[in-house]
Amino acid sequence: KLSKRLETVASYVPKGSRLADIGSDHAYLPCYLAHQGMIDRAIAGEVVKGPYESAVKEVKKEGLQNSIVVRLADGLDAIRESDQIDTITIAGMGGPLIVSIIEKGKTKLTNVQRLILQPNVHAKAIREWAVNNEWKLIDEKILKEDRKIYEVLVLERGTVNYSDVETLMGPFLLKDKNLIFLEKWNSEVNQWRRIVDSLNLATEDQTMRKEELEKLISLVEGEIG
Ligand code: SAM
Repeated sequence: KLSKRLETVASYVPKGSRLADIGSDHAYLPCYLAHQGMIDRAIAGEVVKGPYESAVKEVKKEGLQNSIVVRLADGLDAIRESDQIDTITIAGMGGPLIVSIIEKGKTKLTNVQRLILQPNVHAKAIREWAVNNEWKLIDEKILKEDRKIYEVLVLERGTVNYSDVETLMGPFLLKDKNLIFLEKWNSEVNQWRRIVDSLNLATEDQTMRKEELEKLISLVEGEIG
């Protein structure tokens, strides 16, 4: 059974997609989608030998060699023109790493209509990248599994602008402000507060950091009350 986290990512893959799952590890996500009849074909990309071999093994075990191709490659290098990939999933990495993978492989995005990204931290980096590269969020989800909180960001092409607070917290997540969202941001604010409290020696650097954190705290507190 797929984790709730990957199930949420899977729920945004359009039926009949030609999918590339980058950093696929065991290829659980494409295997699940293939069994559900949700994808036409998929590439599972891995840059590390161990996880690549796990992916190959899993695809074989599930008898899905005809619909899933596993490739050992760095980021979007796993995608070839002839694959006609229209949907990309990248899950379980930090936001900045996800951004660097997409940025490095920009030329592979020509036919891609949807990006489904699940940053473990710093989702903000993805929202900034989207605004600067003419992609826009069409939905977001926040969920909790095994005491960890995850965000899933769904992007399609389009131009938008987000306010500072939307970039930080997520425009769709802000509309909802569900309990997990409030838990996440209360815990962030508490961490920033602890740092501010510890920055008592007023060197110039620390004063700057302190002011920056105080600004963040009031920005976020304005939203979560
Ligand atoms: N996507 C799976 C998930 O969400 O459960 C696996 C997540 S795992 C924590 C991250 C995987 O990304 C690792 O297997 C790692 O080898 C792979 N990875 C990291 N950087 C990569 C890159 N530039 N290209 C392809 N794979 C990469």
